[in-house]
Amino acid sequence: MKEFHEAVIVGGGPAGLTAGIYLMRAGIDTLLLEKMVPGGTPVNTDHIENYPGFPEVISGRELMDRFTGQAKGCGLAIREFSTVEEITIEEGRFVTRTSEGSYESIAVVVATGTEPAKMGIPGENEFLGRGVSYCATCDGSFFRGLDVAVIGGGDSAIEEGLSLANVVRKVYVVHRRDALRAQKIIQDRAFRNDKMEFLWNKIPVEIKGKDQVEWIVLQDTKTGERSEIKIDGVFAYVGANPATSFLGDLVERDKAGFVLTDENLATKTEGLYVAGDARKKTLRQISTAVGDGALAAIMAERYILGKK
Ligand code: NAP
Repeated sequence: MKEFHEAVIVGGGPAGLTAGIYLMRAGIDTLLLEKMVPGGTPVNTDHIENYPGFPEVISGRELMDRFTGQAKGCGLAIREFSTVEEITIEEGRFVTRTSEGSYESIAVVVATGTEPAKMGIPGENEFLGRGVSYCATCDGSFFRGLDVAVIGGGDSAIEEGLSLANVVRKVYVVHRRDALRAQKIIQDRAFRNDKMEFLWNKIPVEIKGKDQVEWIVLQDTKTGERSEIKIDGVFAYVGANPATSFLGDLVERDKAGFVLTDENLATKTEGLYVAGDARKKTLRQISTAVGDGALAAIMAERYILGKK
């Protein structure tokens, strides 16, 4: 016998937890499956400055603990360390399979967000955990007083570079163009920071070292010229890939793999909604993920009530 819930949410970040709050308040029996513990991507950020309601600045961990507490307070059942492997439809019901068990439901809200993109260069996998990292908040303290490179020019690279600058000696920002993509307020702060040095028009081509990272080889995107800088750590923020492969053919995707939804977050499969960073959208923020979670929940609620 499969465990039945009217709705299953996959993913416990801002979108998933918000969907949980809305579904529970609508009286829908809901289970949230989370591959680790709830919180999602924001827990990797020290300071959240653009989520309204917290002008004093809040850490990602604390903000997401509050989301989780509120969702649990609404009675949401959360199953941690449950990785969804597949979703199928059997006799008109969704069956969500995890390593631990299978769950049947009338509707599913997928809010699995993204995973860090890899640079895809020699040394990246070899030195993972030995100088290569995708999370400054998690690993930054290991580099106290040392020199690191941050790869990328988006919000993540520059925000995390600033966070690293609080502990390391020097942060090289390696960016493939001569202008950053990050929000202007974050850029301005980075340009004012003495510990940050910008290496424009450069891409990393190799990470070298003996037991730990010691060098990064860069290539100039205009001249093709190669150079090496001596560093102790590499923090890669070259974008994010949607974590939705388990959806198979139930959804349509764009070229980068982000799920296509309509304006109500419905997919090509009736009763299956995708909310948050995993879907094709213009702006990926906690605030937009929250909006998605609320909308997906309301649409799922209507779908479930229509089926009952
Ligand atoms: P992103 O915005 O996609 O930025 C990725 C950066 O990496 C870009 O600067 C890109 O260069 C560069 N890049 C991509 N592929 C590369 C490669 N192969 N080699 C070298 N550089 C490469 O990703 P993100 O910064 O992780 O942000 C993801 C989403 O979350 C965004 O929507 C962002 O706005 C949001 N976010 C928001 C906040 C906030 O509001 N505080 C914080 C973090 C993230 P180009 O610029 O040339 O494309």
